[in-house]
Amino acid sequence: MADRPPRSGKPAKAPPLGPPVSDLLPDRPSLSRVREAAAGCRACVPYARATQTVFGEGPRRAEIMMVGEQPGDVEDVEGHPFVGPAGRLLDRALEQAGIDRRLVYVTNVVKHFKWEPRGKRRIHKRPDGAEVAACRPWVETEIALVKPRLLVCLGAVAAQALIGRTFKVSQERGRFVPSPLAPLVAATVHPSSILRARDDETRRAEMDRFVEDLRTVAAGIGNPPRDPAGSR
Ligand code: SF4
Repeated sequence: MADRPPRSGKPAKAPPLGPPVSDLLPDRPSLSRVREAAAGCRACVPYARATQTVFGEGPRRAEIMMVGEQPGDVEDVEGHPFVGPAGRLLDRALEQAGIDRRLVYVTNVVKHFKWEPRGKRRIHKRPDGAEVAACRPWVETEIALVKPRLLVCLGAVAAQALIGRTFKVSQERGRFVPSPLAPLVAATVHPSSILRARDDETRRAEMDRFVEDLRTVAAGIGNPPRDPAGSR
């Protein structure tokens, strides 16, 4: 794990950057080798205030891959994707959609937590286009290695990074779109957007819609996988 991140204030000056991701990718990539290489990535600024690289996790041959935006505060500290509040909501939604989370590979298009201080809190800051572009080779390599049958982008940052810059999640959620990345590719909202709903009624409705999106796209690969022992 890297040094603990600073809790307040901006770095006094721009942090030194390391080589681009393309220079770090191993010649004979495997998930473990790529994860190891990503741990030392310094290709764009967010690394300087994050605790560590948060790489994807899940079965090496997962049929479903879900890609979010970036790790959050909890993920940054713990070093695992989707383990904070949004991750717990995703767990519940997958359960309700009949999908075994243990069979889903989860990751993000940006591997370091970008944040700004607000009092003692670290507030999520959306990665900019250059940061998404700098980091994208890591997730592209994960997709190439795992070869999911179904790729689901969670939220606009992931969808626009992987499907197309003009993709609108609000209009095209829960539908398959043509893409060279996987046989089936779709997008829906990021679970953190449900947590931010203005009231309980809206949150419940958004959750129902999220579960319905997941159920619909998982149906594209047949019965959603549920039994880890039986399918691996
Ligand atoms: S955000 Fe991605 S490209 Fe930037 S330093 Fe972290 S791992 Fe490297």
